[in-house]
Amino acid sequence: MKTIGAHVSASGGLWQAPLNAAAIGATAFALFTKNQRQWTAPPLSAAEIDRFRKTCEEKGYGPAQILPHDSYLINLGNPDADKRAVSLGSMVHELRRCEALGLDRLNFHPGSHLREISEEECLGLIADGMNRALEQTKGVTLVIENTAGQGSNLGYRFEHLARLIELVEDKSRAGVCIDTAHTFASGHDLRTAEAVRATLDEFDRVVGLKWLRGMHLNDSKAALGSRVDRHQSIGRGLIGEECFRTLMKDPRLDGIPLILETIDPELWPSEIASLKAWAGEE
Ligand SMILES: [Zn+2]
Ligand SMILES: [Zn+2]
Repeated sequence: MKTIGAHVSASGGLWQAPLNAAAIGATAFALFTKNQRQWTAPPLSAAEIDRFRKTCEEKGYGPAQILPHDSYLINLGNPDADKRAVSLGSMVHELRRCEALGLDRLNFHPGSHLREISEEECLGLIADGMNRALEQTKGVTLVIENTAGQGSNLGYRFEHLARLIELVEDKSRAGVCIDTAHTFASGHDLRTAEAVRATLDEFDRVVGLKWLRGMHLNDSKAALGSRVDRHQSIGRGLIGEECFRTLMKDPRLDGIPLILETIDPELWPSEIASLKAWAGEE
């Protein structure tokens, strides 16, 4: 069974996210559990937590259909020790919020070396940050997203994800998220059914699909291998519809949140309906 949704707004209260998801026919959703432009947020009240949990339950969303995304400010690989410590504090804060909300995974971008240290050194810092964050929290898996490799962002090679998993001590709380637009922009073709299968096979060989805890379904405005991060609506970008039709038929993507981060929320209901139809589920 495929569970499909979008990264919905939680403005006006976190419980708005499951309501917004249900309103567009989603069977999964992503959200920011706090303002993504701030390091921390005031603690969640018992009433907020309760209302979020109850709304998720009413609308049929369990933890395996919800993929929270962390703040874009966080860089666990920041070469500056003081700035890195702020990022770690924020990551722990985010993990604790997920824990309080009954969520079991948190999606994050590995980090950036800011052209000050080597990639390998930066991956070491990121893994160290992940280990410390996991030590200070419980129950929530850190889900590493692959990136387009824009600027000095790591995570644009499958080997980066494999290396981080290798360095994480508590592997029961490590996972990965494949973003199709990032995968394409980082140089892996997805334009045909054969290309999709070859890319997934390569991912499986280098990282392992057993680590997959979510996926971001985005078409791309940016070209193959451009290392530019520009999402597009499904079927309207340079990847094209065949990729998503193929993915929806792949049983390895069952039971994890499949999340649209496409650029036009007006299209989300029809994108979700198409994806469900391609999965043979409606
Ligand atoms: Zn992301
Ligand atoms: Zn993404």
